Amino acid sequence: MKKLYAVLGDPIGHSMSPVMINDLFSFYQLDAHYLPFQVKAENLGDAVKGLKAIGVGGFNVTIPHKSTIIPFLDGIDELAASIGAVNTVVNEGGGLIGYNTDGPGFLSGLNAFVQSVSGKRILVIGAGGAARAIYFTVAKANPYVVDIANRTVETAAKLIEDCPYDSPSRALSLNEASKNIGDYDLIIQTTMIGMSPKIAEQPFILDKLRKQSIVCDIIYNPLETQFLHDAASKGASIQNGIDMFVYQGALAFEKWTGIFPDIERMRNNVLKQLGGN
Ligand code: NAP
Repeated sequence: MKKLYAVLGDPIGHSMSPVMINDLFSFYQLDAHYLPFQVKAENLGDAVKGLKAIGVGGFNVTIPHKSTIIPFLDGIDELAASIGAVNTVVNEGGGLIGYNTDGPGFLSGLNAFVQSVSGKRILVIGAGGAARAIYFTVAKANPYVVDIANRTVETAAKLIEDCPYDSPSRALSLNEASKNIGDYDLIIQTTMIGMSPKIAEQPFILDKLRKQSIVCDIIYNPLETQFLHDAASKGASIQNGIDMFVYQGALAFEKWTGIFPDIERMRNNVLKQLGGN
């Protein structure tokens, strides 16, 4: 019988996951289908109960349900519990177990540039949901330092306070980060500044950036934000948000099927959906 997989969110129409994951199911000849469901916050518990009752293989969870889903699950892994957010649920023998593949997806995508963030000087820009997943995952991976710069500095300080992994970190203003940008090996932009349609915006000017730095922006629309454009013009290596998106999906697919999928195929699929080739 065809196995059901899903993504729950609100809104959900924009999600690129159904086309990306269904392509993998057919490529690997798996009798499964992945469907998007728009679920209102007040119906989340019922939706999860229904999916469990019909024997769902697993599902993704996206905005605004990543944290509120937790009480409806049967279990949660350590990293997802510490982040306080789940983006992937796996049906393990009838029990629904929550994972977070956003942070690990970001780190895996970084492999093209650096094998490990251990010993690196890192700056995370932003302190929202995506930053939380990335910061906790990076903090766990033994960096030399991982600072957070945010418009609201108190939110960055709260993120550092909440993190169970011991790593040297400071909460900075965007202005301070801009002044000290030359101190970092890896800079990770996680706010929505510069996202379409406001593509001319950027968190701060990169005057003091070193060309040896790696600069990531987790936005993928546009593929090159103004921030990445400036970083590239300073000679730095740059990476957009496609890899994080593809790898978080690949890690979810692996948890559901035991197959680590063809990343290049996934990347091309996403670029096609974005109209990029
Ligand atoms: P979020 O939880 O709402 O966090 C928003 C962050 O952006 C906060 O740090 C906020 O600062 C900051 N911010 C927003 N508007 C700002 C402005 N005008 N000036 C300065 N700072 C501003 O959002 P999220 O879920 O983390 O998502 C953030 C971005 O990541 C989105 O563009 C999303 O598409 C992208 N994303 C990509 C992937 C991927 O797979 N590539 C995955 C997840 C998210 P304050 O604390 O001061 O409000």
